[in-house]
Amino acid sequence: MIYLDNSATTRPCDEAVKAACENMKNNFGNPSSLHKAGIEAEKVIKSAKKTILAKLGLEGEIYFTSGATESNNTVILGTAKAYKHNGKKIVTTSTEHPSVSAPIDKLCEQGYTAVRLSPKDYDDFEKAVIDAVDSDTFLVSVMWVNNETGFITDTAKIYNGVKRKNPKTIVHVDAVQGFCKAPPKTLKADFISLSAHKIHGIKGIGGLFVAKNMRFEPLLYGGGQQKNLRSGTEAVDLIAGFEAAVKYYPDCTEKYARLNEILQERLSALEGITINSYNNTKNILNFSVKGVRSEIMLHFLEESEIYVSSGSACSKGKTSGVLSAFGVTDENADSAIRASFCPETTEEDIIALADGIKKGIERFRR
Ligand code: PMP
Repeated sequence: MIYLDNSATTRPCDEAVKAACENMKNNFGNPSSLHKAGIEAEKVIKSAKKTILAKLGLEGEIYFTSGATESNNTVILGTAKAYKHNGKKIVTTSTEHPSVSAPIDKLCEQGYTAVRLSPKDYDDFEKAVIDAVDSDTFLVSVMWVNNETGFITDTAKIYNGVKRKNPKTIVHVDAVQGFCKAPPKTLKADFISLSAHKIHGIKGIGGLFVAKNMRFEPLLYGGGQQKNLRSGTEAVDLIAGFEAAVKYYPDCTEKYARLNEILQERLSALEGITINSYNNTKNILNFSVKGVRSEIMLHFLEESEIYVSSGSACSKGKTSGVLSAFGVTDENADSAIRASFCPETTEEDIIALADGIKKGIERFRR
């Protein structure tokens, strides 16, 4: 199998599986228990928090959630409640994941307004986001790396600019696709959402970074775990796997750049290919194949056990509107393919993909 759909999810690395299994077998206590078994389980959580904070290079607290969907919902709905006197306006983008855009839609039903900016409309996207902030803006929510194109937003520049304009405005970043992959100097925020299964951890565990002195109302009420902010027994095994994945993920900057270049080179030898990614992390390449619909190409490649995506997995193949916000025409969005790499991706995998696309064109182009 040639798996090039790592933005949808990744294969859990051996280290993550081992850490999770070891805890399941030998360290199964409830971290809230007062006895030794509980204390040992709690140690796993503390260690994972430390590792994640060190990787982020930021000071604050980590809360564990069921995934980035929960982290995003928690921040957006939870800060609206905690900071209800700070304003009724949200500045965000039209390229967000539904787990950000949908809770914002909910707030808009309750009297909030949202300004949603598209990268295609601006030369300096970060400046546009900062410019849109005013005295009524309680929240800025922007993704670090886009899941469909790999577009990088300099959230540190946004953070600094927003705080200068309105120090009360909260900055939230969905960092799911950038964590361990994008340049850390472009990340800064009050709240950061993370997900383990995009970095070779296990599905069902996510993180929420909260900077010092930031508040939010919880989404869940119950046993009062995690300082009363995220009730529910912590998923210690998955948390151990999350930590192992963070430790595992190597610096692939150069490798991804090389693979991306090879893929673009091979694709440029074919007719009717448009590259949709720009200003992107090199582990993601989105391109359109003129005259062959995404799903046709995806299933054709699947016959050779090459797995890619037709957009984002979450949109189940539907064109999500995100590509159009990056300036991609409807026709090109309809034939878009996203290839996304992982540390194990080889040059042979990339060449096999390019060859598969060539054969797909020969067979299906209208
Ligand atoms: N944000 C982005 C950018 C994503 O790509 C995803 C996963 N598709 C999520 C949030 C949701 O993450 P999870 O699957 O952990 O809920």
